[in-house]
Amino acid sequence: MALIVQKYGGTSVGDIQRIKNVAQRVIDSRKQGHDVIVVVSAMSGETNRLIALAQQVTSDCSGPEVDLLLATGEQVTVSLLGLALQEMGQPSHSYLGSQVKIVTDKAFSKALIQSIDARKIHMALAEGCVGVIAGFQGVTCEGEITTLGRGGSDTSAVAIAAAVKADLCEIYTDVDGVYTADPRICPNARKLDKISHEEMLELASLGSKVLQIRSVELAANHQVNLMVRSSFNNNAGTLLTSEESTMEKIVVSGVALDESEAKLAIRDVPDQPGICMQVFGAIAEANINVDMIIQNTGADGRADLSFTVPALELAKAKKIVMGLKDKLGFTTIDADEDIAKVSIVGVGMRSHAGVAAKAFALLAQNKINIDMISTSEIKISVVVRKGEGKKAVAILHDGFELYAT
Ligand code: ASP
Ligand code: MG
Repeated sequence: MALIVQKYGGTSVGDIQRIKNVAQRVIDSRKQGHDVIVVVSAMSGETNRLIALAQQVTSDCSGPEVDLLLATGEQVTVSLLGLALQEMGQPSHSYLGSQVKIVTDKAFSKALIQSIDARKIHMALAEGCVGVIAGFQGVTCEGEITTLGRGGSDTSAVAIAAAVKADLCEIYTDVDGVYTADPRICPNARKLDKISHEEMLELASLGSKVLQIRSVELAANHQVNLMVRSSFNNNAGTLLTSEESTMEKIVVSGVALDESEAKLAIRDVPDQPGICMQVFGAIAEANINVDMIIQNTGADGRADLSFTVPALELAKAKKIVMGLKDKLGFTTIDADEDIAKVSIVGVGMRSHAGVAAKAFALLAQNKINIDMISTSEIKISVVVRKGEGKKAVAILHDGFELYAT
């Protein structure tokens, strides 16, 4: 008998029939003798619908009221799933994040979990109940409702699994697991049986939207066994493991596309100490994540500084930099939303040379121009024109022979 946390995403609870199917899956796990805690997202589209409502009454879609609004989506699904379980004869208890005391900091709409008091959940399990917990939400010490950021119920599930010391955390979604590339772009993409936390972290941050990135970090830090699988069939999913336990070191495991970033280029900044500190200090202060950074130094003591930020925060970032114009003494700042980031990831890159050269050759042969490059030990990312992003993914995926055979 194991203690399993099962998380069901929005599409898996997208309508009443699907909620009943989830209840059946949970009951099947109970019948196999397992204790089950279920974490659910809002019904698919619901969080977007709530955001759209808020946008109709305010231009500043942030703060306590917005979190209070968004948290209602998950309140609906925990209630309905609890009712469905009970109707099918399975005792259950449904909880909001605030009820099981998922305590977070006060960063509304991107709150960090500080602690979880698992006592109530353990009591429910001891009584033979299934615990059904609302994902994506928590509560501050002062009792204000918070949310964890889009896709946050993955993080809720892993945090709960860590808090209750679950044997396994299953993330149920509408795909069979983690693929070598998005199957909508590469129909011949292959499902991976295993992937290391590190590779998954890179893939998740690179726009492969299977898991919220924070959940992978949490799983790695707390040694939670994490499995991604489909709620629509019984196929084995993808297991996230530590790098040591992946048997052979595949050089390239996957190719990811991220179309959600935009680029800012500050032209002719004086090339002197402290410039980067001021630019990126101010941007960090506004809580905007910077991804790639490139600085080119000219011969005339001036430099160009280019970097990427989430496209949604481009305007804000641009305004911040404009505010520094007199202090920094640059000439212009250009914003470019027409970009896509394409990345190849694999732990085997640590020990294999020539991966970057091969990737650049593949792109060159197909006349795709590279705008920016960044690398880590296990990743190579390039920025290309947005219209060429998908093509670049397919070229790299096939060039590195990642397809199913
Ligand atoms: N319902 C939230 C969202 O759509 C959280 C989640 O689905 O994980 O972002
Ligand atoms: Mg999700």
